[in-house]
Amino acid sequence: MPYDVVVVGAGPTGLMLACELQLAGSRTLVIERLERPADFSKALGVHARTVELLDLRGLCADFLQDARKLPGGNFASLGVPLELTPFDTEHPYVLFVPQVRTEELLTRRALELGVELRRGHTLTALEQDDQSVTATVTGPDGPTQITSSYLVGCDGGGSTVRKLLGIDFPGEKPHMLALIADARFREELPRGEGMGPMRPRGVMRHDLRAWFSAFPLEGGVFRITVAFFDRPFADRRAPITDEDLRVALREVAGDDFGMYDVRWRSRLTDASRQATRYREGRVLLAGDSCHIHLPAGGQGLNLGFQDAVNLGWKLGATVTGTASPHLLETYEAERRPVADGVLRNTRAQAVLIDPDPRFRGLQDLMRDLLRQPETNRYLAGLVSALDVRYPIDGEHPLVGRRMPDLLLDADTGRRRLSTHFHAAHGVLLTLSPDPHHAELATPWKDRVDLVTATDVLERGPAVEGLSAVLIRPDGYVCWAGSAADDTEGLTSALRTWFGSPLS
Ligand SMILES: Cc1cc2nc3c(=O)[nH]c(=O)nc-3n(C[C@H](O)[C@H](O)[C@H](O)COP(=O)(O)OP(=O)(O)OC[C@H]3O[C@@H](n4cnc5c(N)ncnc54)[C@H](O)[C@@H]3O)c2cc1C
Repeated sequence: MPYDVVVVGAGPTGLMLACELQLAGSRTLVIERLERPADFSKALGVHARTVELLDLRGLCADFLQDARKLPGGNFASLGVPLELTPFDTEHPYVLFVPQVRTEELLTRRALELGVELRRGHTLTALEQDDQSVTATVTGPDGPTQITSSYLVGCDGGGSTVRKLLGIDFPGEKPHMLALIADARFREELPRGEGMGPMRPRGVMRHDLRAWFSAFPLEGGVFRITVAFFDRPFADRRAPITDEDLRVALREVAGDDFGMYDVRWRSRLTDASRQATRYREGRVLLAGDSCHIHLPAGGQGLNLGFQDAVNLGWKLGATVTGTASPHLLETYEAERRPVADGVLRNTRAQAVLIDPDPRFRGLQDLMRDLLRQPETNRYLAGLVSALDVRYPIDGEHPLVGRRMPDLLLDADTGRRRLSTHFHAAHGVLLTLSPDPHHAELATPWKDRVDLVTATDVLERGPAVEGLSAVLIRPDGYVCWAGSAADDTEGLTSALRTWFGSPLS
């Protein structure tokens, strides 16, 4: 077989997954229906946890170049920012990066790593047995068949892969419908009752249960949204004309403000759905193909990206033969609860952005709660994904959580811990002079890098009292020990997460 894994879809999820797989030693092919990358951006923001993961792979500088940093997150446009400074992170902000740029940077990275990308190729059929998956792919030269060990559907909300597998996609039907577009305006947009500091321009129509909001992009272009909460639903995929947009603007805002140069138009709803399973044999799902929701708070791209980082090293280890038998099962076990949390908070936001006067009390109450540090922190942790905790056994509060990016004096010099993850290996960080833990991990040295710290210069309290920490390639802690003789737990964690030792 020429490929270990075929990834269907070169959106942010598929591209990041391909990078992670290739780093883990898998021969990876990405097939993408579109001949050229899209020239419009659905998502505009990258959250703090995604920036941390980019940092782990040495990609952060490219994303930070020329990108605006928005100091806080947004919850239901209630005007109270989600504070990221209470979190122990190098990146307490939302990075304004249009999806087109994210995809461009990830494509470049994938190609540098040796991923093969075939554009203008559409998956149309699938078959699998105990050994392999065969995909029928239609390209410019007609249909061909490609066989691989595994296939992952990263093919978006309408996923062909999910449908071909017969996996149900249950959830909630839409209650609202919005027209969305990127356009310029000859006239000044109103600074009425907007949608909080992120979208200062807009018009709220409690009487119509509708609103209009505008977010400034580059070069005088605005992303506008006109949302209706009591309309019968048009087909979400039916084409939208500029006239449709003008009519909606005039109805809600009383004017179309001389709209011109419309670059992209779409509809969105608050439909939220999740696949009943993320895997069928040798085929898996990631990103929008297994969960969709209202893009409130800008979480969808991040959720898919983080699915990819969770799955990549596990599937990579599976195809290269180093994984423990159950490693791949932990992908859905870990990621489904995170998607549940996003679906839940976006459903709540869908109610909170409804201008029906009945919800005013709820919105005011929620605003008060957002001003309370504890509630603000809870929601900021959810939306930024900084508070994700995977169900991993272990007493220490770090276990299952993201490892803070310590500044260390170590055998490798003075460096941030994140710089040790560029190769996507596991890391055993030892914090005591006793060599016992390091010796135990030696048989895994092809998969687990050793970092021996002599001093922790920043974020020390996170590891106070610990003598060693085992961290997975995705930056989550899978074991933390305080005593030099605490060896059984470490050996068991090494086997669980990194397979059998070298013989
Ligand atoms: C208006 C809007 C605003 C949003 N804003 C944000 C935001 O600010 N922040 C955020 O995090 N998220 C946001 N989102 C959500 C985000 O855009 C998606 O969650 C993200 O694009 C999902 O990435 P993906 O790679 O899983 O799927 P997609 O981006 O949908 O990519 C799927 C790819 O698969 C390809 N494909 C499909 N079928 C096939 C096939 N049969 N064969 C081959 N290729 C195929 C498609 O062409 C596509 O390139 C927004 C969404 C919308 C609609």
